[in-house]
Amino acid sequence: MPFSSFTNIECLRVIKEDQSYMYLVKSKSSSCICPSCHTLSHRIHSRYVRSLQDVPAHGKSTYVQIQTRKFFCDKCSCPQAIFTERFTWLGTYQRKTKRLQEMLKSIVLSTSCKVASRLSKHLGIVTGHHTLLRLLHRLKLPSYEPPVHIGIDDFAFKKRCRYGTIIINQETRRPMAILNGRDKETVVKWLEQHPTIQMVTRDGSSTYAKAISQALPHAYQITDRWHILKALFTAIKQTLQQSFPSTWRKTEYKNHTSEPLIIRKTDIQRNLYAEKVWQRSLEVKEWKVKGKSISWISRYMDISRSTLNEAVSRIRHEYRASATTHAISRDSLLWKIWSEKNSDWLKSLPSVCLKEFPLISQLFEVTPSFKDIVRKRSTQGIPEWIETYKTYSFPALNTFISYIEKDLQGVMAACVDPLSNGLSEGHIHRVKMLKRMMYGRASDELLKKRVLIPLL
Ligand SMILES: [Zn+2]
Repeated sequence: MPFSSFTNIECLRVIKEDQSYMYLVKSKSSSCICPSCHTLSHRIHSRYVRSLQDVPAHGKSTYVQIQTRKFFCDKCSCPQAIFTERFTWLGTYQRKTKRLQEMLKSIVLSTSCKVASRLSKHLGIVTGHHTLLRLLHRLKLPSYEPPVHIGIDDFAFKKRCRYGTIIINQETRRPMAILNGRDKETVVKWLEQHPTIQMVTRDGSSTYAKAISQALPHAYQITDRWHILKALFTAIKQTLQQSFPSTWRKTEYKNHTSEPLIIRKTDIQRNLYAEKVWQRSLEVKEWKVKGKSISWISRYMDISRSTLNEAVSRIRHEYRASATTHAISRDSLLWKIWSEKNSDWLKSLPSVCLKEFPLISQLFEVTPSFKDIVRKRSTQGIPEWIETYKTYSFPALNTFISYIEKDLQGVMAACVDPLSNGLSEGHIHRVKMLKRMMYGRASDELLKKRVLIPLL
Protein backbone atom coordinates (compact mmCIF):
# COMPACT_ATOMS: atom_id res chain seq x y z
CA MET A 1 0.00 0.00 0.00
CA PRO A 2 1.45 3.40 -0.91
CA PHE A 3 0.27 4.97 2.40
CA SER A 4 1.31 2.19 4.79
CA SER A 5 3.92 4.50 6.35
CA PHE A 6 1.35 7.28 6.88
CA THR A 7 -0.42 7.00 10.23
CA ASN A 8 -4.15 7.65 10.74
CA ILE A 9 -4.93 7.79 7.03
CA GLU A 10 -7.77 5.97 5.36
CA CYS A 11 -7.87 5.45 1.58
CA LEU A 12 -11.38 6.02 0.24
CA ARG A 13 -10.90 5.47 -3.44
CA VAL A 14 -8.23 5.01 -6.13
CA ILE A 15 -8.74 6.45 -9.63
CA LYS A 16 -6.46 4.86 -12.23
CA GLU A 17 -5.60 6.87 -15.31
CA ASP A 18 -3.18 6.21 -18.18
CA GLN A 19 -0.21 8.00 -16.67
CA SER A 20 -1.20 8.49 -13.04
CA TYR A 21 -3.00 7.28 -9.92
CA MET A 22 -5.26 9.51 -7.87
CA TYR A 23 -5.81 8.52 -4.22
CA LEU A 24 -8.72 10.05 -2.33
CA VAL A 25 -7.89 9.81 1.38
CA LYS A 26 -9.00 11.20 4.71
CA SER A 27 -7.65 11.38 8.23
CA LYS A 28 -8.90 8.86 10.79
CA SER A 29 -7.90 11.02 13.75
CA SER A 30 -10.72 12.77 15.63
CA SER A 31 -8.51 15.48 17.15
CA CYS A 32 -5.45 17.56 16.44
CA ILE A 33 -2.82 19.43 18.50
CA CYS A 34 -2.71 23.21 18.14
CA PRO A 35 0.68 24.15 16.61
CA SER A 36 0.83 27.32 18.75
CA CYS A 37 -0.10 26.20 22.30
CA HIS A 38 0.11 22.40 21.83
CA THR A 39 -3.40 21.87 23.28
CA LEU A 40 -5.47 18.97 21.97
CA SER A 41 -8.54 20.19 20.11
CA HIS A 42 -11.65 18.18 19.04
CA ARG A 43 -13.90 20.99 17.76
CA ILE A 44 -13.95 21.10 13.97
CA HIS A 45 -14.29 24.45 12.25
CA SER A 46 -14.53 23.39 8.58
CA ARG A 47 -13.28 20.96 5.95
CA TYR A 48 -11.46 21.41 2.63
CA VAL A 49 -9.49 19.30 0.15
CA ARG A 50 -5.70 19.49 -0.25
CA SER A 51 -4.19 18.28 -3.53
CA LEU A 52 -0.74 16.75 -3.19
CA GLN A 53 1.81 14.84 -5.16
CA ASP A 54 3.48 11.73 -3.74
CA VAL A 55 6.33 9.42 -4.84
CA PRO A 56 5.50 7.62 -8.11
CA ALA A 57 4.10 4.11 -8.07
CA HIS A 58 4.83 1.58 -10.86
CA GLY A 59 6.42 4.38 -12.91
CA LYS A 60 3.21 6.45 -12.85
CA SER A 61 2.63 9.80 -11.17
CA THR A 62 0.79 9.62 -7.86
CA TYR A 63 -1.57 12.34 -6.71
CA VAL A 64 -3.38 12.49 -3.38
CA GLN A 65 -6.51 14.43 -2.49
CA ILE A 66 -6.87 14.53 1.26
CA GLN A 67 -9.91 15.79 3.14
CA THR A 68 -8.35 18.18 5.61
CA ARG A 69 -10.05 19.79 8.58
CA LYS A 70 -9.67 23.08 10.38
CA PHE A 71 -9.96 23.04 14.18
CA PHE A 72 -10.81 25.65 16.80
CA CYS A 73 -8.25 26.16 19.53
CA ASP A 74 -10.28 26.44 22.76
CA LYS A 75 -7.46 27.76 24.91
CA CYS A 76 -8.31 31.37 25.66
CA SER A 77 -4.71 32.60 25.90
CA CYS A 78 -3.71 31.05 22.54
CA PRO A 79 -3.38 33.61 19.71
CA GLN A 80 -4.29 30.88 17.21
CA ALA A 81 -8.09 30.78 17.15
CA ILE A 82 -8.33 28.41 14.17
CA PHE A 83 -5.67 26.06 12.85
CA THR A 84 -5.32 23.53 10.06
CA GLU A 85 -4.85 19.84 10.67
CA ARG A 86 -1.16 18.83 10.67
CA PHE A 87 0.32 15.61 9.29
CA THR A 88 3.71 14.15 10.19
CA TRP A 89 4.38 13.18 6.55
CA LEU A 90 3.49 16.58 5.06
CA GLY A 91 4.90 20.05 5.69
CA THR A 92 2.71 23.13 6.07
CA TYR A 93 1.86 24.93 2.83
CA GLN A 94 3.49 22.08 0.87
CA ARG A 95 2.09 20.47 -2.29
CA LYS A 96 4.51 17.54 -2.15
CA THR A 97 4.87 14.89 0.55
CA LYS A 98 8.07 14.86 2.61
CA ARG A 99 9.23 11.55 1.08
CA LEU A 100 8.77 12.98 -2.43
CA GLN A 101 10.75 16.07 -1.43
CA GLU A 102 13.57 13.84 -0.11
CA MET A 103 13.61 12.02 -3.43
CA LEU A 104 13.71 15.30 -5.37
CA LYS A 105 16.45 16.59 -3.08
CA SER A 106 18.65 13.61 -3.97
CA ILE A 107 17.98 14.12 -7.69
CA VAL A 108 18.56 17.87 -7.66
CA LEU A 109 21.79 17.55 -5.66
CA SER A 110 23.08 15.10 -8.26
CA THR A 111 22.55 17.21 -11.34
CA SER A 112 21.37 20.59 -12.60
CA CYS A 113 17.79 21.72 -12.01
CA LYS A 114 16.82 21.52 -15.68
CA VAL A 115 18.23 18.01 -16.07
CA ALA A 116 16.65 17.02 -12.73
CA SER A 117 13.28 18.28 -14.00
CA ARG A 118 13.54 16.18 -17.18
CA LEU A 119 14.73 13.13 -15.22
CA SER A 120 11.90 13.52 -12.70
CA LYS A 121 9.34 13.59 -15.50
CA HIS A 122 10.81 10.35 -16.83
CA LEU A 123 10.52 8.82 -13.35
CA GLY A 124 6.88 9.88 -12.97
CA ILE A 125 7.29 13.07 -10.93
CA VAL A 126 5.81 16.17 -12.51
CA THR A 127 7.81 19.24 -11.46
CA GLY A 128 9.47 22.28 -13.05
CA HIS A 129 13.08 23.39 -12.79
CA HIS A 130 12.10 26.57 -10.93
CA THR A 131 10.40 24.46 -8.25
CA LEU A 132 13.55 22.37 -7.91
CA LEU A 133 15.68 25.51 -7.70
CA ARG A 134 13.48 26.81 -4.85
CA LEU A 135 13.79 23.42 -3.15
CA LEU A 136 17.58 23.66 -3.40
CA HIS A 137 17.58 27.21 -2.02
CA ARG A 138 15.45 26.09 0.95
CA LEU A 139 17.99 23.43 1.99
CA LYS A 140 20.05 24.35 5.02
CA LEU A 141 23.82 23.94 5.17
CA PRO A 142 24.81 21.01 7.41
CA SER A 143 26.34 21.64 10.81
CA TYR A 144 29.66 20.02 11.73
CA GLU A 145 31.64 18.94 14.76
CA PRO A 146 34.67 21.06 15.74
CA PRO A 147 37.36 19.86 13.31
CA VAL A 148 40.77 18.50 14.34
CA HIS A 149 42.40 17.51 11.03
CA ILE A 150 41.58 19.61 7.98
CA GLY A 151 42.72 20.00 4.39
CA ILE A 152 42.76 23.36 2.62
CA ASP A 153 42.96 24.17 -1.07
CA ASP A 154 41.94 26.85 -3.54
CA PHE A 155 39.71 26.76 -6.60
CA ALA A 156 38.50 29.27 -9.20
CA PHE A 157 34.99 30.70 -9.13
CA LYS A 158 36.05 32.30 -12.39
CA LYS A 159 39.53 31.53 -13.65
CA ARG A 160 42.06 34.41 -13.42
CA CYS A 161 39.30 36.63 -11.91
CA ARG A 162 37.97 35.28 -8.64
CA TYR A 163 39.13 32.43 -6.43
CA GLY A 164 37.77 30.63 -3.39
CA THR A 165 39.03 28.30 -0.67
CA ILE A 166 37.61 24.92 0.23
CA ILE A 167 38.10 23.41 3.69
CA ILE A 168 37.86 19.62 4.08
CA ASN A 169 37.46 17.65 7.30
CA GLN A 170 40.09 14.91 6.97
CA GLU A 171 38.29 12.72 9.54
CA THR A 172 34.80 12.75 8.01
CA ARG A 173 36.23 13.21 4.49
CA ARG A 174 33.53 15.84 3.82
CA PRO A 175 33.87 19.50 2.80
CA MET A 176 33.09 21.82 5.70
CA ALA A 177 33.25 25.33 4.30
CA ILE A 178 33.76 27.37 1.17
CA LEU A 179 35.37 30.78 1.60
CA ASN A 180 35.01 33.64 -0.86
CA GLY A 181 38.68 34.31 -1.53
CA ARG A 182 42.07 32.70 -1.04
CA ASP A 183 43.83 35.65 0.56
CA LYS A 184 45.51 35.44 3.94
CA GLU A 185 42.93 37.57 5.82
CA THR A 186 39.95 35.44 4.72
CA VAL A 187 41.67 32.20 5.71
CA VAL A 188 42.98 33.60 9.02
CA LYS A 189 39.47 34.79 9.95
CA TRP A 190 37.99 31.31 9.40
CA LEU A 191 40.85 29.47 11.12
CA GLU A 192 40.64 31.71 14.21
CA GLN A 193 37.01 30.63 14.63
CA HIS A 194 38.14 26.98 14.80
CA PRO A 195 40.84 26.72 17.47
CA THR A 196 40.35 22.93 17.81
CA ILE A 197 42.32 22.33 14.61
CA GLN A 198 45.55 20.42 15.28
CA MET A 199 46.70 19.37 11.83
CA VAL A 200 46.39 21.01 8.39
CA THR A 201 47.26 19.55 5.01
CA ARG A 202 47.77 22.09 2.22
CA ASP A 203 49.42 22.56 -1.16
CA GLY A 204 52.67 24.46 -1.58
CA SER A 205 50.99 27.87 -1.23
CA SER A 206 52.96 30.24 0.98
CA THR A 207 49.77 32.30 1.61
CA TYR A 208 48.05 29.36 3.31
CA ALA A 209 51.26 28.51 5.21
CA LYS A 210 51.45 32.06 6.59
CA ALA A 211 47.72 32.16 7.40
CA ILE A 212 47.92 28.86 9.35
CA SER A 213 51.05 29.99 11.20
CA GLN A 214 49.33 33.24 12.18
CA ALA A 215 45.90 31.88 13.18
CA LEU A 216 46.93 28.50 14.60
CA PRO A 217 50.62 28.62 15.57
CA HIS A 218 50.30 25.27 17.35
CA ALA A 219 48.92 23.46 14.27
CA TYR A 220 51.04 20.85 12.48
CA GLN A 221 51.29 21.66 8.77
CA ILE A 222 51.74 19.01 6.09
CA THR A 223 52.63 20.06 2.55
CA ASP A 224 51.23 17.88 -0.20
CA ARG A 225 53.78 15.40 -1.59
CA TRP A 226 52.39 15.63 -5.13
CA HIS A 227 52.85 19.42 -5.14
CA ILE A 228 56.45 19.12 -3.90
CA LEU A 229 57.32 16.69 -6.70
CA LYS A 230 55.46 18.86 -9.21
CA ALA A 231 57.54 21.88 -8.12
CA LEU A 232 60.73 19.84 -8.67
CA PHE A 233 59.48 18.72 -12.10
CA THR A 234 58.76 22.35 -13.03
CA ALA A 235 62.26 23.37 -11.88
CA ILE A 236 63.87 20.65 -14.05
CA LYS A 237 61.68 21.61 -17.01
CA GLN A 238 62.50 25.31 -16.72
CA THR A 239 66.23 24.58 -16.38
CA LEU A 240 66.15 22.53 -19.58
CA GLN A 241 64.09 25.22 -21.35
CA GLN A 242 66.72 27.81 -20.41
CA SER A 243 69.76 25.75 -21.43
CA PHE A 244 68.81 23.00 -23.88
CA PRO A 245 67.40 23.53 -27.41
CA SER A 246 63.96 22.15 -28.21
CA THR A 247 65.70 19.63 -30.49
CA TRP A 248 69.45 19.12 -30.31
CA ARG A 249 70.99 17.89 -33.59
CA LYS A 250 74.57 17.01 -34.28
CA THR A 251 76.01 15.51 -37.48
CA GLU A 252 79.24 13.54 -37.22
CA TYR A 253 81.38 12.82 -40.33
CA LYS A 254 83.72 9.90 -40.84
CA ASN A 255 87.34 10.55 -41.84
CA HIS A 256 87.23 10.39 -45.65
CA THR A 257 90.97 9.95 -46.23
CA SER A 258 91.07 6.58 -44.49
CA GLU A 259 88.99 4.98 -47.29
CA PRO A 260 89.03 3.14 -49.64
CA LEU A 261 91.40 0.19 -49.13
CA ILE A 262 94.41 0.28 -51.54
CA ILE A 263 95.13 -3.00 -53.35
CA ARG A 264 96.82 -2.37 -56.72
CA LYS A 265 99.22 0.16 -58.22
CA THR A 266 96.49 1.60 -60.43
CA ASP A 267 94.35 1.91 -57.31
CA ILE A 268 97.16 3.82 -55.62
CA GLN A 269 97.40 6.22 -58.55
CA ARG A 270 93.62 6.55 -58.67
CA ASN A 271 93.46 7.22 -54.96
CA LEU A 272 96.24 9.73 -55.11
CA TYR A 273 94.28 11.58 -57.75
CA ALA A 274 91.13 11.22 -55.70
CA GLU A 275 92.96 12.53 -52.67
CA LYS A 276 94.18 15.55 -54.63
CA VAL A 277 90.64 16.28 -55.83
CA TRP A 278 89.32 15.82 -52.30
CA GLN A 279 91.87 18.23 -50.83
CA ARG A 280 90.96 20.84 -53.45
CA SER A 281 87.29 20.27 -52.71
CA LEU A 282 87.95 20.84 -49.02
CA GLU A 283 89.78 24.05 -49.85
CA VAL A 284 86.79 25.19 -51.94
CA LYS A 285 84.51 24.42 -49.02
CA GLU A 286 86.66 26.47 -46.62
CA TRP A 287 86.42 29.50 -48.89
CA LYS A 288 82.67 28.95 -49.25
CA VAL A 289 82.29 28.83 -45.49
CA LYS A 290 84.24 32.10 -45.25
CA GLY A 291 81.59 33.65 -47.52
CA LYS A 292 83.54 33.91 -50.76
CA SER A 293 81.62 33.73 -54.02
CA ILE A 294 82.15 31.02 -56.62
CA SER A 295 83.63 33.52 -59.12
CA TRP A 296 86.14 34.77 -56.48
CA ILE A 297 87.23 31.20 -55.60
CA SER A 298 87.50 30.41 -59.31
CA ARG A 299 89.88 33.33 -59.84
CA TYR A 300 91.85 32.71 -56.65
CA MET A 301 92.38 28.95 -57.15
CA ASP A 302 92.71 29.28 -60.91
CA ILE A 303 90.17 26.61 -61.76
CA SER A 304 87.10 26.79 -63.97
CA ARG A 305 83.65 27.38 -62.55
CA SER A 306 82.37 24.01 -63.81
CA THR A 307 85.22 22.19 -61.99
CA LEU A 308 84.43 24.23 -58.92
CA ASN A 309 80.77 23.31 -59.01
CA GLU A 310 81.73 19.67 -59.42
CA ALA A 311 83.99 19.96 -56.39
CA VAL A 312 81.21 21.52 -54.33
CA SER A 313 78.65 18.85 -55.32
CA ARG A 314 81.22 16.11 -54.72
CA ILE A 315 81.97 17.30 -51.22
CA ARG A 316 78.26 17.60 -50.47
CA HIS A 317 77.70 14.03 -51.67
CA GLU A 318 80.66 12.67 -49.72
CA TYR A 319 79.60 14.43 -46.55
CA ARG A 320 76.03 13.21 -46.80
CA ALA A 321 77.15 9.64 -47.41
CA SER A 322 79.46 9.57 -44.39
CA ALA A 323 77.26 11.57 -42.02
CA THR A 324 75.54 10.27 -38.86
CA THR A 325 72.96 12.64 -37.38
CA HIS A 326 72.00 12.50 -33.69
CA ALA A 327 68.76 14.20 -32.62
CA ILE A 328 67.51 14.53 -29.04
CA SER A 329 64.30 16.38 -28.20
CA ARG A 330 64.04 18.38 -24.97
CA ASP A 331 60.78 16.71 -24.00
CA SER A 332 62.19 13.18 -24.31
CA LEU A 333 65.23 14.25 -22.31
CA LEU A 334 63.01 15.76 -19.60
CA TRP A 335 60.97 12.58 -19.39
CA LYS A 336 64.15 10.44 -19.15
CA ILE A 337 65.60 12.64 -16.39
CA TRP A 338 62.30 12.45 -14.49
CA SER A 339 61.45 8.78 -14.88
CA GLU A 340 64.74 6.84 -15.09
CA LYS A 341 66.00 5.29 -11.88
CA ASN A 342 69.61 4.39 -12.73
CA SER A 343 72.15 6.15 -14.90
CA ASP A 344 72.49 3.46 -17.61
CA TRP A 345 70.41 5.51 -20.04
CA LEU A 346 73.07 8.25 -20.01
CA LYS A 347 75.39 5.84 -21.88
CA SER A 348 72.91 5.75 -24.78
CA LEU A 349 73.31 9.52 -25.29
CA PRO A 350 76.06 10.71 -27.70
CA SER A 351 79.18 11.62 -25.78
CA VAL A 352 79.35 14.93 -27.65
CA CYS A 353 75.93 15.85 -26.25
CA LEU A 354 76.93 15.03 -22.66
CA LYS A 355 80.14 17.04 -23.16
CA GLU A 356 78.27 20.02 -24.60
CA PHE A 357 75.52 19.90 -21.91
CA PRO A 358 76.93 18.78 -18.55
CA LEU A 359 73.62 19.87 -16.99
CA ILE A 360 72.04 16.59 -18.19
CA SER A 361 74.16 14.51 -15.78
CA GLN A 362 73.78 17.14 -13.04
CA LEU A 363 69.97 17.26 -13.30
CA PHE A 364 69.87 13.48 -13.30
CA GLU A 365 71.76 13.49 -9.99
CA VAL A 366 69.23 15.91 -8.49
CA THR A 367 65.97 14.19 -9.48
CA PRO A 368 66.16 10.52 -8.37
CA SER A 369 67.89 11.48 -5.11
CA PHE A 370 65.02 13.82 -4.10
CA LYS A 371 62.30 11.45 -5.28
CA ASP A 372 63.90 8.68 -3.19
CA ILE A 373 63.79 10.87 -0.07
CA VAL A 374 60.09 11.65 -0.57
CA ARG A 375 59.11 8.07 -1.36
CA LYS A 376 61.12 6.40 1.41
CA ARG A 377 59.21 8.43 4.00
CA SER A 378 62.39 9.63 5.66
CA THR A 379 63.45 13.17 6.55
CA GLN A 380 67.10 12.35 7.13
CA GLY A 381 68.40 13.15 3.65
CA ILE A 382 66.68 16.50 3.08
CA PRO A 383 69.22 18.89 4.75
CA GLU A 384 72.13 17.07 3.04
CA TRP A 385 70.29 17.17 -0.30
CA ILE A 386 69.77 20.93 0.06
CA GLU A 387 73.42 21.54 0.95
CA THR A 388 74.67 19.38 -1.95
CA TYR A 389 72.59 20.89 -4.73
CA LYS A 390 72.45 24.48 -3.48
CA THR A 391 75.79 25.03 -5.22
CA TYR A 392 74.36 24.31 -8.68
CA SER A 393 73.89 27.50 -10.64
CA PHE A 394 70.50 26.74 -12.20
CA PRO A 395 68.07 29.58 -11.31
CA ALA A 396 64.91 27.43 -11.46
CA LEU A 397 66.48 24.73 -9.29
CA ASN A 398 67.73 27.33 -6.82
CA THR A 399 64.17 28.71 -6.58
CA PHE A 400 62.91 25.20 -5.79
CA ILE A 401 65.58 24.71 -3.13
CA SER A 402 64.76 28.04 -1.46
CA TYR A 403 61.05 27.03 -1.49
CA ILE A 404 62.00 23.77 0.28
CA GLU A 405 64.11 25.69 2.80
CA LYS A 406 61.28 28.13 3.58
CA ASP A 407 58.70 25.35 4.00
CA LEU A 408 61.09 22.82 5.58
CA GLN A 409 58.70 21.78 8.38
CA GLY A 410 55.82 21.13 5.94
CA VAL A 411 58.05 19.24 3.48
CA MET A 412 59.56 17.07 6.23
CA ALA A 413 56.05 16.35 7.57
CA ALA A 414 54.98 15.35 4.04
CA CYS A 415 57.86 12.86 3.90
CA VAL A 416 56.90 11.03 7.10
CA ASP A 417 53.13 11.53 7.51
CA PRO A 418 50.68 9.37 5.53
CA LEU A 419 48.16 12.25 5.27
CA SER A 420 48.15 14.23 2.05
CA ASN A 421 46.02 16.87 0.38
CA GLY A 422 44.64 14.38 -2.15
CA LEU A 423 41.20 14.50 -0.53
CA SER A 424 40.99 18.28 -1.04
CA GLU A 425 42.11 17.87 -4.65
CA GLY A 426 39.35 15.32 -5.17
CA HIS A 427 36.74 17.72 -3.80
CA ILE A 428 38.13 20.49 -6.04
CA HIS A 429 37.42 18.24 -9.02
CA ARG A 430 33.88 17.77 -7.72
CA VAL A 431 33.47 21.57 -7.43
CA LYS A 432 34.64 21.94 -11.04
CA MET A 433 32.14 19.32 -12.16
CA LEU A 434 29.30 21.06 -10.29
CA LYS A 435 30.28 24.43 -11.77
CA ARG A 436 30.23 23.03 -15.30
CA MET A 437 26.93 21.30 -14.61
CA MET A 438 25.39 24.65 -13.68
CA TYR A 439 27.01 26.38 -16.69
CA GLY A 440 28.58 28.97 -14.41
CA ARG A 441 25.30 30.83 -13.94
CA ALA A 442 24.60 29.82 -10.35
CA SER A 443 25.28 32.10 -7.41
CA ASP A 444 28.02 31.37 -4.88
CA GLU A 445 25.39 30.41 -2.30
CA LEU A 446 23.91 27.78 -4.58
CA LEU A 447 27.36 26.36 -5.34
CA LYS A 448 28.08 26.18 -1.60
CA LYS A 449 24.85 24.23 -1.04
CA ARG A 450 25.62 21.78 -3.81
CA VAL A 451 29.16 21.23 -2.50
CA LEU A 452 28.48 21.11 1.24
CA ILE A 453 25.15 19.27 1.48
CA PRO A 454 25.83 15.52 1.40
CA LEU A 455 23.92 13.41 -1.09
CA LEU A 456 22.18 10.75 0.96
ZN1 LIG B 1 -3.65 27.04 20.52
